[in-house]
Amino acid sequence: MTGKRASVAIFVPHIGCPHRCSFCDQRAITGENSAPRACDVAAACERALESGAEPKNTEIAFFGGSFTAIPRDYMLELLGAARVYLERGFRGIRLSTRPDAVDRERLDILKSFGVTSVELGAQSMSDRVLGLNERGHTAEDVERASELVKEYGFTLGLQMMVGLYGSMPELDRMSAERIIALGPQEARIYPTVILKNTRLGELFQSGEYLPYRLNDAISLCAELLDRFESAGISVIKLGLHSSKDVERDMLGGLYHPSFRELCEAERYKKRIEGLIGDDKACAFTVPSRNLSKAIGQNKSNIEYFRSKGVEVKIIPDPDQSEYIIKSQTE
Ligand code: SF4
Repeated sequence: MTGKRASVAIFVPHIGCPHRCSFCDQRAITGENSAPRACDVAAACERALESGAEPKNTEIAFFGGSFTAIPRDYMLELLGAARVYLERGFRGIRLSTRPDAVDRERLDILKSFGVTSVELGAQSMSDRVLGLNERGHTAEDVERASELVKEYGFTLGLQMMVGLYGSMPELDRMSAERIIALGPQEARIYPTVILKNTRLGELFQSGEYLPYRLNDAISLCAELLDRFESAGISVIKLGLHSSKDVERDMLGGLYHPSFRELCEAERYKKRIEGLIGDDKACAFTVPSRNLSKAIGQNKSNIEYFRSKGVEVKIIPDPDQSEYIIKSQTE
C-alpha cells in the first residue's frame, strides 16, 4: 500500500437516524448490523497499519448516514478513538451525516477532534422528492448546512441520488445544478437501488414506483458526471458499491456492478459523437489511463460507431491531460 491513499471505513448503521428514509437499509448497503465502539475503531486502524497503510496516506471514515445525530457521548467516544490515530500521523477523519443534524455546536466538536471532511446526504434538491422519500429535511437545510461546513473550513462533500420516487431526469438535473452551485469539493452520485424491507420496495411492488431504465440512468449519470467534473468537483463515487448483500436484497432499480465504468464509457461516446461531424473515419487521442473508458466495455463504443458507418480509432497518450482531442492525421 506504500504511497497509496487508504481509508479505514467504520460503519455506524442507522443509529441517529430520526426515522427510516424510503430507500434505506443500511444493513444491506454496508453489510454491517452492529454499532462499533472505540475498540472497534482502534482495531480497524491497527489492521490497516498491519497491512502496510502509511499513516500519512490513511483517512478514517465514519459512514452510515447520520454521524452527528448519534447520541453525543457515543459520538465523542468514536471521535476520541479516531483522534488517537490522527495524533499518530493519520491524514484525516471523514464522516457523513444528515443536513438537518449540522449546527455550530456539533461542528465545533468535529473541529476540536480534528475532523477534516464532512459529507452531507442531500439526495435531492426538490422538496417534493425529499418529502415523498421521507427524508425529513428540506433543500434549504442542505444549503444552510453546506454553507456552515464550508465556513468551518471542512472539505465539503455532497451526495445526491438519481431516480428517487417522484423524481424525473429534469429534477435530477436541477438537483445536480443546485448542488454544484453550493461549491462542494467532492460529490457522490447514487442511482436509486430498490431494497427489500423498505418503503420504496413496497411502492415498487405495488406498482406505484417505476424506476428509470438502466440505460437511461447511465446516460443521465454520464451527463451529471460531466457537469460535476466540468465544475471542478471530484465525483468520488458513482453507483452503489458492488456487494453480495445488495445483490441479495435488491428488488430492482439502478444497480450494475460496473455502473461507473458504463457511465464513463457513455460520457466518452457522447463526446466523440459531438466531435465526429461528417467524417466516416476519425481518430482521437485520450490520456492513457482513460483508454478503456473511451473504447467502452467490450469495445462497445467502437462497435456503436461502426454500426453507424463510422470507424473510430482511439489512441492513448501518456502525456495528455485533456479529456479527448480529435487527431488531425486520420
Ligand atoms: S438514508 Fe441516511 S438518514 Fe436516511 S435512514 Fe438511511 S442512514 Fe438514516
